[in-house]
Parts: sequence; C-alpha cells; structure tokens
Amino acid sequence: MGEVLYRRTLKRAVDLASMQTISSDALMAMSKDEYQIVRRAATRARLDRQPRYVCECCGHAVYAPREGRTGHPYWKHHPGLSRNCPWWTGTSLGVDAVSASQFDGAQESPLHFRLKNTVGELLAGDPRTTAGSVVVDEYLVQEDGRRRPDVRAIYDGVPLAVEVQLATTQIPIIVQREAFYESASIRLLWLTWNFEPPATDRRLLSSFEDIFYSHDKNLFSMDDQTIMLSKESHDVILRVFWMDGDSWCSKLVGLASLNWLNGGRANAVPSRPPWHKDFLTRWRGALGYKGTNWDDRQILYAELVAKLELNETGVNELHEFDIDALVNCLLSLVDGQPVGSQQQNLVELLNSFLYVERRQQYIRLVRTFAQLTDRQALFEVESVRKKVLKARTVGQIDRDSVPGKIALALFPEVWCAAPVR
Ligand SMILES: [Zn+2]
Repeated sequence: MGEVLYRRTLKRAVDLASMQTISSDALMAMSKDEYQIVRRAATRARLDRQPRYVCECCGHAVYAPREGRTGHPYWKHHPGLSRNCPWWTGTSLGVDAVSASQFDGAQESPLHFRLKNTVGELLAGDPRTTAGSVVVDEYLVQEDGRRRPDVRAIYDGVPLAVEVQLATTQIPIIVQREAFYESASIRLLWLTWNFEPPATDRRLLSSFEDIFYSHDKNLFSMDDQTIMLSKESHDVILRVFWMDGDSWCSKLVGLASLNWLNGGRANAVPSRPPWHKDFLTRWRGALGYKGTNWDDRQILYAELVAKLELNETGVNELHEFDIDALVNCLLSLVDGQPVGSQQQNLVELLNSFLYVERRQQYIRLVRTFAQLTDRQALFEVESVRKKVLKARTVGQIDRDSVPGKIALALFPEVWCAAPVR
C-alpha cells in the first residue's frame, strides 16, 4: 500500500503532442485500450529520443509502467534528469548523486524547450511585437555580463525578456537574471506552466514564491487554454494568479494590459488596493449618523489635501466646501442607500443635500454621477426637480475646482464611463 502511494506522487504529466495534462488519477482510470495507446506512444518516443509525455513539475520525460503488485499504471520519471524534481520518486540521493543532480538541473527539459518556443510563436503572432524581433534562447551581451533569456522581443516598442520557470529552477538564478535585465532596461516576465495554487495551509514552492514576489504577488501561467486563446486572438493571453486574503484567485489577462512597474516587472492585479479605495474604506469606517466623526474628518481632510496636492487649500476650506456631505452623497448614489445620514432613502437624502445653499454648486456633478450610477430617475422626482429648478442660476463647479478634483480622485471607476465636464 505504502509503495503505491509513494510512486503516485508524480501527479500530472503533459502530452507534448496536444499540451493536454493527464493526471495520475486519469491515467489510472483509463480503459485498457486507452492505456496501451499512452504506453506505446511513450515507448515509441523513448526509442526515437523524442519526448512525448513529460512531468508537469520539472518538464522531463516520463513513462507509464504498471505498478508491479497492483497492476495499476502510474507516471514515472525516466532515470537521470529529474532528481531535483519535487515529484521525483527514485532512490534517495548520495553526495555524488546530489552534485550530479545540480548538473542535471542545468539541462533543459523537453517541456521547457517546448514552452519557450511556444511563447516565441505567440509573441510573433501578436501585432504589438515588432516584426522580426522575436529571438528564442540566444545570448544577450551587456556591459556587465551576458544572459540567455528564453525568449526576447520588442513588444509594444519596448524590449521584453520572457523566462519560463518550472518548479526546478534554482533561486540564485532568478535573482541574478532580474538584476541583469533591470540594469539593461529590459522588461522581464516570468511565466510558469499550468500553475496550480497550493492548498490554503501549504506554502508555494520556493521557486514559484520568488517569481510571485517579482511580480508584485502575481503569478503568470500558461496552459493549453491560454495558448489556444492566444492563437485565436493574436494576443498573448496569460492566466494570472493572486491571493485575496488566504484564498487564491485567477483570471485571464492579455500581455498588453499588464501594469509595468519600476524595475521592469509587471502586475495585473495590484497587491494593495489603490489609494482611493483604501481611503473610502477608512472614510466609511469613520462615519457617524451625521456625517464623518469630527476628529477623523480632520485627519481624512488633511490626507486629501496632501494626496491631491491641493497646495493652496487647507483643511478649513474643505469644511467650507462641505466635502463631507458631497462625498457621502456620492457614496449614497454608489450604494443605493443613504450613507452617513439619518435620511430614509435617496430622495430624502438628495433633498436635504440640495436644501443647503452652498451645496447647490454640486447639482451638475451629482446629477452626472447619478446618471453614471444608473440613478438618474431620482432627478425626475418632483421634490428634487423643484430644487434643481430653483437653483438653476447657481454657478456650477468644474473638474479643476477643489471639490471636482476630489470627486474625480475618489471615484475614478464611476467617471471613466463618461468624464465629467
Ligand atoms: Zn518531475
């Protein structure tokens, strides 16, 4: 029994003919006929010295023998090249074997070879890549040394290096490469294959942890679906993984839409929320029944002044502008219910907001915001209409005014549908 479990720790193999993954469970569940096809293809490949099935973890060739006692098929590394694979199930390593395995680690696996060429093809198929600029696995010489990126290209007019990282690349190599590309002003993208997030109580493999932190806690992966989508759309499509609290999330993302950060590496999902979201969270946390608590309001106003560089403006002016009421009114429109107010509904809230004369300069801003948040019907309500009509001669603020800047900075997602005039 122990023997069976031991050998099945090679969890998944990739069929290089189709780039499909075959898990050890799927292999064991195969009919006799299906299994014979895999077994023969693996043998054929070995005789031809052309790998067909490879370990998803280290990328080296595997085959599918039957376990002696139970007769169940399982994936097994070919001897020799995979000893530093986390899924290696061979004999334990003596000192000689350890140094041999370090040497083996320098030898490229068939999966790695395939993936770098696939990345090259996908880049070449993307019109954002400068024609003829894709180079797979050639030396790049700079003053302070030379490196051989898996793939490089001029993408979006900027030099880009792509490195394919499987589970077995050693950490010093990662750090050295990053320093090299950064000093050469070449963007660097780490990619892995068919990434599967670890269980909640487990750590990332350290070789993945490094590239995860390289990309602002994003991990970029390819799989057979992203390859297919990339070919269809002539756009390099990746799958990005990130953590939200303790859980892993993922989504598809185009290479062209990544955010490139200082140092030449990118994220797709920033690890920290943008300032305005963080600010609004703290703003909501400071709300009482009648607007924001006074002490907190002073602090939040000071932050607005500093962050938006409202140099000519002080906290006192924000009080005069009734920024508290304005922000809470906009938050109410976002939420669909009164925020920081004892009013029962949005109509009451708008009426009491517009009742104060100095807030009537916000009518155009608030009405546009109501349209963008799909609450324009509020302005059809008789009591609101009357107030708007009565204030029709009041001059309205524009986007360069202090309240306009604040409204734009705190709700960029709302405005991006239609910029405020
Ligand atoms: Zn392996």
